[in-house]
Amino acid sequence: MKNNTHLKLVLGDWQWNASIYGFINIVGKENVDLIEDTVTFSTDLLEGFAEKYFGYFIRTYEKTLSWYKIVSFAEKMEAYEDDAFAGFNLEALKSFNIYLKDVKRFLKSNSYKAAYELITLNVDMPSLEKQLTAIKEPKDQQQFEAGKSGIITEVQNNFIVLRPIIAYCNSPEGKKYIRAKNVIYTIINNAWDGVSFLDRQPKEKDVYTSYKKYFVDGAVEYLQQNKSHHKYNCFICDAPIKDLNHTLSFLNETGFDVGKKSSHVWDFQNDIALCPLCKLIYSCLPAGLAYGYNHGLYINANQDVETVFKINHVLKTEILGVKEGNIRTIYPILVNALHQKEHDTAKYELADIQVVRYENDSYRFNILSRKMLEIIVESKDELDGLLKAVFMENGMTVRVYDEVIVRIFNNQNLFTLIHRMIYHKLANPARCYFNGAHIMYLLKINQKIYTRLGGMEVERGEETRQNQFLIGNAKEAGQNLRKRYYGKDAQHKLPGICYRLLNALKTANKDMFMDVTLNCYLYVRAQVPEVITRALSNEKDFSTMGYAFVAALIDEPEGKSLPGEKENTAPEAGEEELV
Ligand SMILES: [Zn+2]
Repeated sequence: MKNNTHLKLVLGDWQWNASIYGFINIVGKENVDLIEDTVTFSTDLLEGFAEKYFGYFIRTYEKTLSWYKIVSFAEKMEAYEDDAFAGFNLEALKSFNIYLKDVKRFLKSNSYKAAYELITLNVDMPSLEKQLTAIKEPKDQQQFEAGKSGIITEVQNNFIVLRPIIAYCNSPEGKKYIRAKNVIYTIINNAWDGVSFLDRQPKEKDVYTSYKKYFVDGAVEYLQQNKSHHKYNCFICDAPIKDLNHTLSFLNETGFDVGKKSSHVWDFQNDIALCPLCKLIYSCLPAGLAYGYNHGLYINANQDVETVFKINHVLKTEILGVKEGNIRTIYPILVNALHQKEHDTAKYELADIQVVRYENDSYRFNILSRKMLEIIVESKDELDGLLKAVFMENGMTVRVYDEVIVRIFNNQNLFTLIHRMIYHKLANPARCYFNGAHIMYLLKINQKIYTRLGGMEVERGEETRQNQFLIGNAKEAGQNLRKRYYGKDAQHKLPGICYRLLNALKTANKDMFMDVTLNCYLYVRAQVPEVITRALSNEKDFSTMGYAFVAALIDEPEGKSLPGEKENTAPEAGEEELV
C-alpha cells in the first residue's frame, strides 16, 4: 500500500474483541501497539495479509490437520526400513491399516480434490489413492510371524505408492493449498461461512486470492476512498460508508438466539452495516478463539487489550498443549488460564469476565463474577486435588471437579453434591473413586463459596481460621467415633448410622442428628464433642460439621487403601462429551 497510515481499533463486545485478538495473532503482537483498550497498527500490515491469515491457522493447528497425519508417517516408514522391518509386528500392521484407511478417506474428500485443482504438479492423486490397499490381518502374532515376509512385501508395495503421495503433500504447493483447505474446514468455518472461499459457488478457486479479493482489497480500496460524500456510518467504528452492503451476516451465530428473539431483531442484527475494514477484522474471529476437542473457547476480559491477549494466549497454549486424547474436560484448562491471569495482574483488581464457548454450532456464555474468580483462584489447591475424583451414577461418570466448577458458575453451594457423594460412597463404594479427603476439599471450597457469594462480613484470616477449625474438628470427631466402633467390633453398625445422619442433614433436622449422635456416644461411652453441639446454632455450620463428620465416619481407616485410592484411576470415559 502506498499511503501508509495508522489505524486504531477499540475494544467492544466479545465478538469484536475476539476478532481484534485474532487480528493480533495473525499479524504478530510485535507489530501492533497495545495501549489500554486500543490497538494501533500501520496499514502496511495489510500487505500479504491473506498469506499471514492462513499462515497463522496452519502454524497454530498444524499437528491437528489431516495433512499432518499423512506426511508425518514418512518418519515411521524410514524407521521400519532402517531395521529391515525387524520391529514390524501385528500391532504395527493394524495401525498401518488404520493409517491407510485414513489416507484414502482424506485423499478422496472434496476439499483435497479442490486442492488438487490448484496444485500444478503433474501427479495423478486419485489413481495413487486407488493403489493403496489394506493388508489382511492375521489372527495372532504367531500367524503374523508365519506369513511375515509376504506381509512385508505388501507393506513395501504400499510404501512405494505412499512416497509420491507424501512428496506431493509436502511440496511447496501441496503445503500451501492442502493445509489451507484443512484449516478452512476444521477451524475457520466454525466462525464464519458463506462468503469468499466459503461461498457455496466460489468465483475464485484459489483460496488465498479469494480471501485477498473479498476481504483485503475491499478494505484497502475503502481506506483510499474519498469519504466526504458517504451517507452512512459503520456500526462498529462509526466511519462514513457509502452503502450498507457489508453486514455481520457472514458470521455464524451472531450472538442472537434466532429461536428466541423476534425476527425483526434478528433482521436488525443482520442489517448492521460495517465498513470493509471492520469486516476484515471480523474475518479474524476464528483466530481469536482457541479450538480443540469440539470446542472453541474465548475469555472476554475487556479492560485492556494486553489482558485480553495474555489470558487468551495462556488458554490457547493450554488447549493446544494437551496431548491428543488426554483431555477429559475443558474446565481445568479454563481454571489454569484464570489462575495464571490472577498471578499476572495485581490481585483482585479484576472486573467480571465472560467465558465464551462455541460448541454444537452455537455460542454459550458464562459470566464469571469477580467473586467467583476469587473462589476459583483461592481454591486452586483443593480443585487440583479433585482432578481425578469421580463416581458412577446411573451408569454415568460424574467428575467431581466439573460438578464443582459448574456450581460455582451457577452461584450454588456444594451441599447437594457432597450429599450425593457420601450417599454413593455408602451405597456403592466400589463405584466411587474418591475418599474422605476429597469431601474435605469440597467442604473447604464450599466455605469459600459461602463467604464470597453469601456476602458474609468476616475478616478473611478469621474466617479461614474458623472454617478450618470447624471442618478439622468435625472430621476428627468422626474418625474417633469410628475407631471406637471398630474397638467394639461394631463397625457393621456404621452404615446404618450414616444413612440416618445423612437423612437428618438432608432435611436439616438437627434434633434427629442429635438423637443419632447421642445414641452413638452413649453406645461407646463417650462425651459428645463440643464441635457437634456448637454447630447446631447455625444452619450452614450444621451442614458443614455434619458432612465432615459423616465423611470421616465412613472413610476407610488409615493404612487400608480404597479401591481407587492409590491412583484414583477413574474408569476411562474418553468418548464422553466434554464440559
Ligand atoms: Zn468500521
